[in-house]
Amino acid sequence: TTPLDFPYLAELNEAQRAAVTYNDGPALVIAGAGSGKTRVLVYKLLYLLDCGYHPMGLMALTFTNKAAREMRQRISERAGSVARQIRMGTFHSVFLSILRLHASLLGYTPTFSVYNTNDSRSCIKAIVKRLGLDDKVYKPNLIHSRISSAKNRLLTPDAYASYGELVKYDAKSGLPRIAEIYRLYWDELRQSNAMDFDDLLLQINILFRQHPEVLKEWQERIDYLLIDEYQDTNFAQYMVAKQLMQEKGAIFVVGDDAQSIYSFRGANLDNILNFEKTFPSTKVFKLERNYRSTQTIVSAAGSIIAHNEYQIPKQVFSEEAVGEPIQVHEALSGDLEALWAGEEIQLLHQRQGASYEDIALLYRTNAQSRTLEQVFRRLSIPFRIYGGRSFFDHKEIMDVVAYFRTLVNEQDDEALLRIINYPKRSIGDTTVQRVRAASVRHAVSIIHVLRDPQGYEVEVNKATAAKLQAFAALLDELRAYNQESEDLYDVAERIIRDTGILADLKSDTSIEGKARLENLQELLSGIEEYIESCLEVDTKPSLASYVAEVALLTDQDTQGEGEEAVTLMTIHASKGLEFPHVFILGLEEDLFPSSMSNTGRELEEERRLFYVALTRAEKTCRVSYARERFRNGHMEFSRPSRFLRELPEDLVHFVSSHGFSEVPSWRRGGTRGKVSEQLPEDFSSVPSFLPKEKPARRVLIQRRGDEPEVKHSAIGDLRIGTRILHKRFGEGEVMELEGEGDNAKALVAFDTGDTKKLLLRFAQLQIL
Ligand code: ATP
Ligand code: MG
Repeated sequence: TTPLDFPYLAELNEAQRAAVTYNDGPALVIAGAGSGKTRVLVYKLLYLLDCGYHPMGLMALTFTNKAAREMRQRISERAGSVARQIRMGTFHSVFLSILRLHASLLGYTPTFSVYNTNDSRSCIKAIVKRLGLDDKVYKPNLIHSRISSAKNRLLTPDAYASYGELVKYDAKSGLPRIAEIYRLYWDELRQSNAMDFDDLLLQINILFRQHPEVLKEWQERIDYLLIDEYQDTNFAQYMVAKQLMQEKGAIFVVGDDAQSIYSFRGANLDNILNFEKTFPSTKVFKLERNYRSTQTIVSAAGSIIAHNEYQIPKQVFSEEAVGEPIQVHEALSGDLEALWAGEEIQLLHQRQGASYEDIALLYRTNAQSRTLEQVFRRLSIPFRIYGGRSFFDHKEIMDVVAYFRTLVNEQDDEALLRIINYPKRSIGDTTVQRVRAASVRHAVSIIHVLRDPQGYEVEVNKATAAKLQAFAALLDELRAYNQESEDLYDVAERIIRDTGILADLKSDTSIEGKARLENLQELLSGIEEYIESCLEVDTKPSLASYVAEVALLTDQDTQGEGEEAVTLMTIHASKGLEFPHVFILGLEEDLFPSSMSNTGRELEEERRLFYVALTRAEKTCRVSYARERFRNGHMEFSRPSRFLRELPEDLVHFVSSHGFSEVPSWRRGGTRGKVSEQLPEDFSSVPSFLPKEKPARRVLIQRRGDEPEVKHSAIGDLRIGTRILHKRFGEGEVMELEGEGDNAKALVAFDTGDTKKLLLRFAQLQIL
């Protein structure tokens, strides 16, 4: 096999080609960001197809649906329709399809439900309540994450309870009853014929362990296993790879230990370090050329990661342009940071012709998107938030999907409880509690109780019992209709109509009501598209398959592509992606690195996260911090992140919209070029204009022509009658002044005829 036989091999460099064409055993490609690992994985699939592997025998696993979709698309561009037959997708989706095939062996029906995070939490909450525990101590989120990490370590409730170390840990944290809650949660899921997200990884391990014949079948079916972002696999995922491929050795994984950012989900860096032990005679490939980013970005990222002790040494170089220095921006507040970002984006867009699509804003926590969202709306910058509220999180959509779910799986209690009194059918909370209690007492699903309230001794009067039965009858009728019907769209429409949801939404004539109705329409259009996509690949669309599809959509995937927009996402969500222009916001101590990272290892993970963020950038990268930020319900002072100091000085350029353009003093004192032990905690090294004591409140006023400056007075030089210029509203005259400090406001009559009251802290008025 030479590059001539396989022309696409010419689109790889030598090291990449070597990895792609090596079919003689386990292979590990370990290389820095942007070096073409994902590209190598895609070309490897093409190569295997050309070598005669059957597409059904190839399994390629990724972490996000987006990555899987892109991969599938790239392969179909080259290889055509066979791409569809490759078992390619996220770990969760591929494992789910295997689990459905063997559901009965695990005591499930093939149409079992997949509980999303909300379902899991509300189920746990009910259990905590039932046990008479305080849900402020036994917080459902916390319990859920404990259970989740147990599942990711393949601990069933029994194993968990006997795994002394963990239980002791929980006892110490004042939560001795987690094992018990876990057990009840486990039972409840089974009774509901439901798996949660973590079960998709755990149950497949149980399946393989309890049914060696099934494992054998899959070992035979899968000829080659490929995994992207291997550094983020957890124990459960690793075990599947190991069981499928330890004998055959037909495994090809790519990863970068420096990008391991999921240890809180149980990802285990040791997986990558131990790969060679698990798969003897592994061949390791290293890729050294970065094709994504400018030299500046590559060396900045390299210097950052060099501060970590725990890593596999790697060479990386770029042959792209040197590129622009990394801009480090200081903002006075979180709001001004957002404003700065918005204005920079407009400049990029208008002056440099950058498409909005080419710009991404990355941040450490989801909460940071709110300010950006507000500012971008005002500036009319189109944006798309990944990981925020997704379409399927809207109440009206969740309601309809809950109906779908109960029809597909009548035992799905969480879905049923959601809609038991929606639209309103006078089934009150007390009744619901009693129904629930009866279902627990008799260990049956709620639907059985609803069908026969007397038989299950629910303490309700006749009228209420009749209502419960009527609801059950409605569901049964719809279920029968669904089973007979050939037309998914018609079924969906009928459900929306017959349940009274449509009438309920139509009766709400408010703007929000209209928006909800539109969402419903959108859902129906989505179903239509789904039907078409099924027909394309010759599968029969059904309510069950639709529900299964929806269950695995994570927030990151549901945002419509299409219209040009800037991307807002957490750094975690940006893994594997690339953008010409990247902004990284909120580089502040206790935010990034997070206040949760106390140990050295946790700090190293935060640093890897910063490395991931930097390496998303192709051409330019801007990082920013704010001196104060609204957090936890109030304004808090913040200190520049230690990571800023770790950026080599010759690669950065400092800017601020309020007057300092030189290297800020916290950067100066002796940190040049070497690791600084001194953290910015030392206030003497913080810019001198940042007050050490609680400061006088500041108002930012800029005079035309002057250097911008920071005034330490409430109203500054504004007087009644002062002519001012506002960035968006234009020129105007101050009519009234009120308040002090952060609350100082001016009433301004603008020449456009508008009168506006402005909070001076944000308004940035220029005196004319
Ligand atoms: P990450 O670690 O961030 O996931 P990666 O190692 O997977 O990065 P890719 O996304 O595969 O890197 O590649 C980065 C960019 O470089 C992509 O745009 C890819 O198309 C391009 N690229 C990689 N190798 C080559 C090559 N040999 N020739 C041209 N472009 C390449
Ligand atoms: Mg990649």
